Amino acid sequence: MADNFDLTVIGSGPGGYVAAIRAAQLGMKVAVVEKWPTFGGTCLNIGCIPSKALLHASELFDEAGHQFRQFGIEATPTLNLEQMLRHKDDTVTANVSGIEFLFKNNKITAFRGTGSIPAPGKVLVTPESGPGQTIETRNIVIASGSVPIGLPGITIDEERVVSSTGALGFRQVPKRLLVIGGGIIGLELGSVWSRLGARVTVVEFLDRILPGLDSEAARQMQRTLQKQGFEFRLGAKVTAVDKRADGTLAARLEPAAGGEALVLETDAVLVAVGRKPFTDGLGLEVAGVALDERGRIRTDHNFKTNVPGIYAIGDVVAGPMLAHKAMDEGHAVAEIIAGQKPHVNYTTVPSVMYTSPEVAWIGKSEDELKAAGIEYKAGKFPYTANGRAKAMLATQGYVKILADVTTDRVLGAQIISKSAGEMIHEIAVLMEFSGSAEDLGRTMHAHPTMSEAIKEAALMCGDGAIHI
Ligand code: FAD
Ligand code: NAD
Repeated sequence: MADNFDLTVIGSGPGGYVAAIRAAQLGMKVAVVEKWPTFGGTCLNIGCIPSKALLHASELFDEAGHQFRQFGIEATPTLNLEQMLRHKDDTVTANVSGIEFLFKNNKITAFRGTGSIPAPGKVLVTPESGPGQTIETRNIVIASGSVPIGLPGITIDEERVVSSTGALGFRQVPKRLLVIGGGIIGLELGSVWSRLGARVTVVEFLDRILPGLDSEAARQMQRTLQKQGFEFRLGAKVTAVDKRADGTLAARLEPAAGGEALVLETDAVLVAVGRKPFTDGLGLEVAGVALDERGRIRTDHNFKTNVPGIYAIGDVVAGPMLAHKAMDEGHAVAEIIAGQKPHVNYTTVPSVMYTSPEVAWIGKSEDELKAAGIEYKAGKFPYTANGRAKAMLATQGYVKILADVTTDRVLGAQIISKSAGEMIHEIAVLMEFSGSAEDLGRTMHAHPTMSEAIKEAALMCGDGAIHI
């Protein structure tokens, strides 16, 4: 029997590790149980971090091949895929060992193995080999994350028919890559391999890509990616992938609404049709923890499950499956357990797609405002009118600010541009303080910056921008 803990966190992803560190800062005696050999969960090991390492490296490769000449730099890049993958692996190692360091620094006890809950107040740790042990604990936070959704008729081998995990490590660039799912994973990882030379075809069930994004921005990104070489098959689904004797793959493509199928030949397939909450092995039935209709752990607004002393956060509960959402919930749940009253504001969750250009959005889209019958005004400023963007040959995209027609309060925004993911946060801060478009328009922005387009879009919600 291990020591008594104030809090035991199951899972060390962005939700779990932040909960553990914040609880330790607040004076709790904390344990973390992790079944993988390294800490950091999906995000650090097989998600956000490795994908961004490859997106950055492949973007530089693409720029060197296609843009350098316009800047007066003559260079012909040669791909060293092995080194690019090594850079990705080194980035992961540096980040996961950072979590190990933070655990030690905060005197958090880490247990390796699968955590399950035989009863409230107890966590059983079952390592891959050797005997298990039971932790006595006053509180439990479940942060067990999510896993990719599979498709019937398609067997993932993580070599040529892959989930996002396999798509982070192709040993050679596939000549043709079929991506099933036009969501963020499909377009980010599709971009990586497209830039490195693959012909990418995206099959999307809906009649549009990126269902969570403002439809104008989604249409623009579809056009942009098409110019980069992507082919889109919308309103379609893949119902089977067969391996042929000659080594190629045959994907059976059907219209989403039913009808005649056709066969697409390809060299690799990425299945990216969403993720589902992961609760296997936790013994939730034994502990009596209730799930909702979509298999997520049901919680109240304080992250409490129906069983006293058991909480849940991150991808395994409702809400967007994003690392920063999991982190903020981890921060908040630790404070709640410590008796504080924190609050996570779900109306200001930023989303970023790290394609080229990036897309960042927050709050309501125009589609959502229209559907809710909210009267709004839109200010949209194109990067073709921004001086810094011209200097950087980065004039693709725009900033769109949406504000309430009566109060001028900013309700949402979308940015398509280089570094959009960095710039969205000034709008997040403004929205946290219930700021208006006029507040944003009257805030001095340094010149020349890409951020000036935000000020200009905000001015367009009033009397008008200066540079257009
Ligand atoms: P996870 O990170 O999934 O961590 C769960 C952990 O729990 C894992 O380590 C798992 O081993 C462990 N675990 C599960 N069950 C048990 C058990 N019974 N016992 C012990 N341990 C257990 N989000 C972003 O915000 N930005 C991005 O750029 C981004 N990029 C992504 C790219 C890809 C390719 C993918 C797949 C995801 C990406 N995401 C991104 C999503 C992000 O990774 C998740 O939202 C985030 O990791 C969720 O955090 P979490 O702590 O809830 O769970
Ligand atoms: P997603 O939900 O974003 O997109 C999945 C897409 O697949 C949707 O467009 C959906 O309509 C389509 N689809 C579903 N079934 C289909 C079928 N049978 N055939 C064709 N298309 C089908 O999911 P994802 O891209 O797998 O990403 C999973 C999660 O990971 C998301 O919640 C996302 O937020 C998160 N993530 C975030 C980032 C980021 O923040 N930059 C990056 C990667 C992943």
